[in-house]
Amino acid sequence: MLKIISTIGFLVTLILFLNSNITVEILFIINTFFIIIFFYKPISTKTYFQKNNIETLGNKLTKNDLQELFINQLEDIIIILNKFNIITYSNKAAVENFGSNLEGKHIGSQIRIPELLDAIDNNKIDKELKKIDIELKIPVFKFYKISIISIKSDHTLIIIRDFTEMRKSQNMRSDFIANASHELRTPLVSLKGFLETITDSAKDDPKSQKKFLEIMKSEANKMEDLIEDLMSLSRIELQEHIKLKDKVDIKEVIENVILLNSKKISEKKLNINLDINETERFVIGDKEKLSAVFLNLLDNAIKYSNNSKSIKIKSSENKSNLKNYTSISVIDEGFGIATEDIHRITERFFRADNIKKLKIEGTGLGLAITKHILNQHKGELKISSKEGNGSEFTVLLPLVS
Ligand code: ADP
Repeated sequence: MLKIISTIGFLVTLILFLNSNITVEILFIINTFFIIIFFYKPISTKTYFQKNNIETLGNKLTKNDLQELFINQLEDIIIILNKFNIITYSNKAAVENFGSNLEGKHIGSQIRIPELLDAIDNNKIDKELKKIDIELKIPVFKFYKISIISIKSDHTLIIIRDFTEMRKSQNMRSDFIANASHELRTPLVSLKGFLETITDSAKDDPKSQKKFLEIMKSEANKMEDLIEDLMSLSRIELQEHIKLKDKVDIKEVIENVILLNSKKISEKKLNINLDINETERFVIGDKEKLSAVFLNLLDNAIKYSNNSKSIKIKSSENKSNLKNYTSISVIDEGFGIATEDIHRITERFFRADNIKKLKIEGTGLGLAITKHILNQHKGELKISSKEGNGSEFTVLLPLVS
């Protein structure tokens, strides 16, 4: 519109000038004005277009799109019930958790949680917001926080938040504290008992005192081992996210570990066989931590083997999907692990029954520490064993490229 007006104005002024009605100066001033108008672009044009685009987008977004963009992206489970407790709406999370085709069905037939159904009924009576926590043990452990809200037309909105993972880690933490306290308390109680005996009934019996002091020393050592393991576990957990970059000679690490165990090895007359592939000597990692891994695996192989057996530490075939990784196995001919215990032996404080029966000392933390160290190395630990037939612990570590 502005362009048409300015073009007409421009032409009229030109005709007036040609008819000598106006001077050159006036022609120049007036036409400059029309030229400015001609090229003028109001700033609001841009905002107008932007606004227009948004409106167009708004018009294009259907109710379904909004649902896809928002409600179905929520991790929370959203369910709406009518006044007869029939499900009239369920979002994607609801379908994932409780199955498809929820809509049109009675809530009680789809989610069989009596506490939830009671809370819905109570909400129908008093219309007050209800918040409940539900812990399910079967078929799998689940922990939900549920809000039940009355909405218009006697409908009920149910929002279910899945707190299972958080609850699991809370449970793990409290189990860990309970286990650690129990493990520390046992040697402490024994220490106190012997102290009392030494200072009381055995106070004039140097022979018994000597014997009890030996036991006390061993109990104090157990406590020290446990505290050391607990401290390394917490240190390693804190450092697990730190990326490792050093080039480590894994053959040298293992040779040192064997040297450190040489006394125990010769005491048990064990035969140690080391065979590391020279082309796979260098891995990416932390020397100290990798020493701790092989120290623990060799210590276990020694502890859980009878005298005069063999232990092999050798490069093995990498059967994993991890490319450019070396695979090193520690193989013993010891007591082995029952099939049902294999998946549990890296759990903190877990000790298999066959080992507990043999009264072999240990904290049950070594393999948990090993697993955390290997996680930090982006490595893996694979275990194969048969009770009575020895064990094979295979470590996968990234090679220096
Ligand atoms: P610890 O050896 O102090 O008990 P670990 O975490 O190192 O703790 O090992 C956990 C459990 O795994 C052991 O108690 C034992 O039952 C089993 N285990 C580990 N290594 C071996 C092995 N080489 N042979 C047989 N059992 C083993």
